[in-house]
Amino acid sequence: MTEPIFGGCHCGQVEIQLTTTRPAELVPRACDCSFCMKHGAAWVSDPEGSLEIRCRGGRALIEYRQGSEAARMLMCSLCGVLVAVVCELEADEGLSNRGTLYGAANALALERELTQPSTVVSPQQLEESAKRLRWSEIWSPARIIVD
Ligand SMILES: [Zn+2]
Repeated sequence: MTEPIFGGCHCGQVEIQLTTTRPAELVPRACDCSFCMKHGAAWVSDPEGSLEIRCRGGRALIEYRQGSEAARMLMCSLCGVLVAVVCELEADEGLSNRGTLYGAANALALERELTQPSTVVSPQQLEESAKRLRWSEIWSPARIIVD
């Protein structure tokens, strides 16, 4: 059974919904890259669940790429809160750079406090292909809706 965890930015323009079959097992991953460190971001996802990012008011999200520029960091264009990270990945990574959108939610933007303590991860240590393969295995299938 899947269960939604709601969240969003500060001003309410951006809402996120992470569905998961195992909320008690979600471990937030505190990324040690310089961008995530400045935000204090910790990422959560469930490959068997889904992530929906909805931006209201017809305004686009701010998308920021850094490091290898593979992932798109998504921020509210009004209040600046970092809500999610997404990337287009193939289920079988390595064959192509285009595919399905996958993503992870910033645990700090979720309304529910997660029970598991966060763990430090260092994707910047990985080669580009290894990083993309890892994301395709651990991130949630994602959808961005602008309305
Ligand atoms: Zn906002």
